[in-house]
Amino acid sequence: MAKVVIVGAGFAGLAAMSTLSDAGVDVTLVDRHNFATFQPLLYQVATAGLNPGDVAFPVRTLLRKRKGVTFRQGILSGIDTAANEIALVDGGRIPYDYLVLAMGATTNFFNVPGAEENCHAIYTLDEALAVRNKVFSLFERAASRGSRDNTLTTVVIGGGATGVEMAGALAELKLRAFRTDYPALDPAQARVILIEAQDRLLGAFSPELSKYASAELKGRGVEVYLNTTVEGVTPEGVQLKDGNFIDSRLVIWSAGVGVAKQFAELGLPQHRNGRFEVGEDLRVKGYDNIFAVGDVAGGILGEGQLLPQLAQPAIQTGSCAAESIKSLLNGGITKNFHYKDKGTMATIGRNAAVAELTGGMKLTGTTAWVAWLALHLMTLLGVRNRLSVLLNWSWHYISWGRGPRVILGG
Ligand SMILES: Cc1cc2nc3c(=O)[nH]c(=O)nc-3n(C[C@H](O)[C@H](O)[C@H](O)COP(=O)(O)OP(=O)(O)OC[C@H]3O[C@@H](n4cnc5c(N)ncnc54)[C@H](O)[C@@H]3O)c2cc1C
Repeated sequence: MAKVVIVGAGFAGLAAMSTLSDAGVDVTLVDRHNFATFQPLLYQVATAGLNPGDVAFPVRTLLRKRKGVTFRQGILSGIDTAANEIALVDGGRIPYDYLVLAMGATTNFFNVPGAEENCHAIYTLDEALAVRNKVFSLFERAASRGSRDNTLTTVVIGGGATGVEMAGALAELKLRAFRTDYPALDPAQARVILIEAQDRLLGAFSPELSKYASAELKGRGVEVYLNTTVEGVTPEGVQLKDGNFIDSRLVIWSAGVGVAKQFAELGLPQHRNGRFEVGEDLRVKGYDNIFAVGDVAGGILGEGQLLPQLAQPAIQTGSCAAESIKSLLNGGITKNFHYKDKGTMATIGRNAAVAELTGGMKLTGTTAWVAWLALHLMTLLGVRNRLSVLLNWSWHYISWGRGPRVILGG
């Protein structure tokens, strides 16, 4: 039986797995974690809106009803393209006839001095929990010291969808949490500053939606700094290019998406941004039996533009690569990838979101917010997680935001 190895159990890897299961193929799904993470809601874990278990789903549970698929926890460390084997950090080796690379993306700090050392990112569950711990540790410290300094200022760098969602959720959190849990603290002390280098937020959306997002955030107490470049980050705060320094103990970096540096060691062709170079059928250039899909791949959208690093392109590329593998195994040819754009959305907070749908239709306010909630609920893995998220959101809405405000660990 032909062996297919899929590395990465995210949107792309799972879509590939789903298309290949029950197809008479021996599929091995490899991931460094034993769960799949729903990244679009990580910011809600970071701001105590959801529990970590709500956005993570055990891979083995997903595979229970999938015929011909096994799971191997491990970290990809190398590919022996001559022997058709992958190597894992723990020394394991797995042979393949076809390999699908779906390891996703990570944070790109663009070599800004001190950013990697002093900023928090929210790409993994661990990172989201680290932010939650830091937020509440700073609140507790301020409450115990009766702090009147700037240590409660949070800076979010990057005004794309993740930065906007994070800043909006932080603003809501401090307002609600301070009223109920920390009445002695003054919400004005906990400034939330969103920094964007361009002249508008949500650059991937149309300018009117950017304007709406900016106004909504400002109305919720977020200080929006546009046309502002970060020159460096230190343990004490953020140095701006214009000479100003923002005192802050919590800086969140949501300014860039990159590919893990160690993937360069795999020896495959990469674009300048690290994404693997693929042909129209998503095969890595120069290799007939290696596909790259999702965020880690540089699939072409058109006119030299790469596919956006979003859930839909990941799902669609994962399925397309798997269809090609099925076809090749049946003596057929590969399928070229064509992206079906279903639109994009971002939420700002309670009753406020933006959505830009196919055909140019734009939504804002409660309608967009409800659409955002419904879409995320439908896309989540597992009935239990969906119910839990629905319950958390309903509770959140009624109780004005009393989520899991716990500090975990030491
Ligand atoms: C905070 C945040 C918010 C987002 N919000 C949205 C949104 O609202 N809408 C939207 O469309 N998109 C959103 N995205 C982007 C979207 O989540 C990604 O585009 C999507 O997850 C990409 O899917 P993927 O399968 O390529 O990678 P991922 O989902 O990242 O999955 C990659 C998998 O590979 C595994 N892996 C990585 N390296 C290795 C290795 N060396 N060995 C083994 N396994 C490995 C990882 O553990 C992971 O499970 C958001 C992303 C983030 C970080």
